[in-house]
Amino acid sequence: MAVTREDALRLDAADPLAAFRDRFVIEDPHRLYLDGNSLGRLPKGTRERLHRVIDQWGAELVGGWHDWIDAPTRTGDALAEVIGAPSGTVLVADSVTVNLFKLVNAILDTGAFTHLATDQDNFPTDRYVLEGIARARGLELTVFPVDPLYGPQPEDVPEGALTVLSHVAYRSGALADVAAFPDTVIWDLSHSAGSVPVDAARMRYAVGCTYKYLNAGPGATGYVYVREPDALVSPIQGWFGQARQFEMERPYEPAPGITRFLAGTPPILVLAAVEEGVRITAEAGIDALREKSVAQTELLLTLHDQWLAPLGFSVGTPREPHLRGSHVSLRHAEAWPICKALIERADVIPDFRGPDSVRLGVAPLYTRFVDVYDALDRLRDLVERGVHREVDATVSRVT
Ligand SMILES: *Cc1c(COP(=O)(O)O)cnc(C)c1O
Repeated sequence: MAVTREDALRLDAADPLAAFRDRFVIEDPHRLYLDGNSLGRLPKGTRERLHRVIDQWGAELVGGWHDWIDAPTRTGDALAEVIGAPSGTVLVADSVTVNLFKLVNAILDTGAFTHLATDQDNFPTDRYVLEGIARARGLELTVFPVDPLYGPQPEDVPEGALTVLSHVAYRSGALADVAAFPDTVIWDLSHSAGSVPVDAARMRYAVGCTYKYLNAGPGATGYVYVREPDALVSPIQGWFGQARQFEMERPYEPAPGITRFLAGTPPILVLAAVEEGVRITAEAGIDALREKSVAQTELLLTLHDQWLAPLGFSVGTPREPHLRGSHVSLRHAEAWPICKALIERADVIPDFRGPDSVRLGVAPLYTRFVDVYDALDRLRDLVERGVHREVDATVSRVT
């Protein structure tokens, strides 16, 4: 039986997380935002918190550091709860790119690896960082092909290679079964933390970002997780990672624990935004978020089959719920003009991922079932009427 708009409204009425939507800034209710996996919405609490931190700066000046100094580890501990890591193992700092650079070099400095690896479909920055490190250190880098739908499998990983993989693949949305992989993997949690339960205690190393499902804002810092941080030393010996930071003349000695991965002065405004984003996620609870996300991607797939398959679409994401994250890629030969038309003519915000994917993300903190229904209804209508053939299909700088 066909799914109707009333079905979607009924799912919203029964949604235990429905009230969280009101805690986000939603300026334009007609705009259907299915890109929370690229940049999450602004929590109202974050807007207020940022004003408070700005006022604290104005009032306390340098005296504010009594509160700010621990922000990277305090925020890290809050995040640790969301990703199933022990306290003291997660540090919020720098971008994912920089954290990966620090982490890979720190691990290589132990002498345990001479071979690096990642998969061909991994996020570009992860591949670039590894290429640069391999070149600088004269190491072998294997970039192995993977199944485009199901992503990397344990048997793809070269034995003995320090390997970087995404927990959820940014294009297909494939979710890796971490327990089946060797512990030579550094996991990139950018597309999983905040939408999928992460059992970091099973991982030795991870990095991730906070501006997607954790709603910390554009360019917010990422994080690094090391199960045994005292075994590594950051390749950037900065004063914030120094053991007795304010005994200024001492030679460099890494601070105990994950703090040693700090380099310079942390961005306090950003950290406040990360703390708020993590707080609201923790409050909703990752299991409840996951349950809603699975139900929403399921609805999306059902509507695809009902409306879009006859229009030349196919599904580029695993249909098995336990094998996918919180976004669905719909493949179509005209994906790029369709994305442009969705944004310009239908007020639906997806993103385009080459070569042929319309990527639709559900962020269970604020996406409603009826948003999914209406977005796919508008998509169907637009392609049926050929509106995507009318838009200027010049490729823009940001997709
Ligand atoms: C978003 C994302 C990043 C972002 O890296 P930044 O350095 O923070 O820009 C990295 N890796 C993956 C898998 C991502 O999805």
